[in-house]
Amino acid sequence: MTAVLSLEGVSRVHGEGATRVHALRGVGFTASAGELVAVMGPSGSGKSTLLTLAGGLDAPTSGTVRVEGVDLAALGPSERARLRRTSVGYVFQDFNLIPALTAAENVALPRELDGVRGSAARRQALTALEEVGIAELADRFPDEMSGGQQQRVAIARAIVGERRLILSDEPTGALDTDTGEEILRLLRARCDAGAAGVLVTHEARHAAWADRVVFLRDGVVVDETGADPVDSLLGEGSAR
Ligand code: ADP
Ligand code: MG
Repeated sequence: MTAVLSLEGVSRVHGEGATRVHALRGVGFTASAGELVAVMGPSGSGKSTLLTLAGGLDAPTSGTVRVEGVDLAALGPSERARLRRTSVGYVFQDFNLIPALTAAENVALPRELDGVRGSAARRQALTALEEVGIAELADRFPDEMSGGQQQRVAIARAIVGERRLILSDEPTGALDTDTGEEILRLLRARCDAGAAGVLVTHEARHAAWADRVVFLRDGVVVDETGADPVDSLLGEGSAR
């Protein structure tokens, strides 16, 4: 399998002196094409830090982060921003949609920022909205949609333009159980179609959609399940 994301010996230290926090300490991590990896761990264990480093939104204090084989530290700021726009999609707990833009405009925005013409960007946005099952809501504004619909728009925005790496930080946190399952199903489908996915979650039944589960504690990977992970974690009644 091809590693779309790889972290080697990655540490991230925040602050100085008495307030120094080791958010991550020597973490190794990979996510390959077609694979959905769940990251679990207590609050403050470094899960969000891992995602921001993976997406090039923050840089490690030491160690190497590669996306599609490219060392992010070797890129200048504009090249890094470009790689983020073309290869990496983020889904957050609170959707982060722009309230003044329609669903289609929210999804088209990253493509337009990347220089795609308006009409082509809209076409790609509609394709992504169709993939997440809400093409008919294209012209609604976020406050005219339910939480689950807004999160689908956020997923469409994360996958538009065939991005290869989908990073999601507790994407179901603000949703009811059934809607949360639907969101997981969409992420799973995208990974089955060839993307690499990283899913931060504190719910074992959501981690059950993943191929592997990585556990963090105090910035260290403390456990990693192999194939067929979560069945052993959950017993029967798992989501798949
Ligand atoms: P999680 O997502 O698992 O809850 P985080 O990655 O958000 O954990 O945080 C890991 C640790 O790093 C925590 O102790 C947190 O307080 C600290 N931390 C995260 N971001 C910053 C920052 N920008 N400045 C200082 N400390 C931070
Ligand atoms: Mg977090």
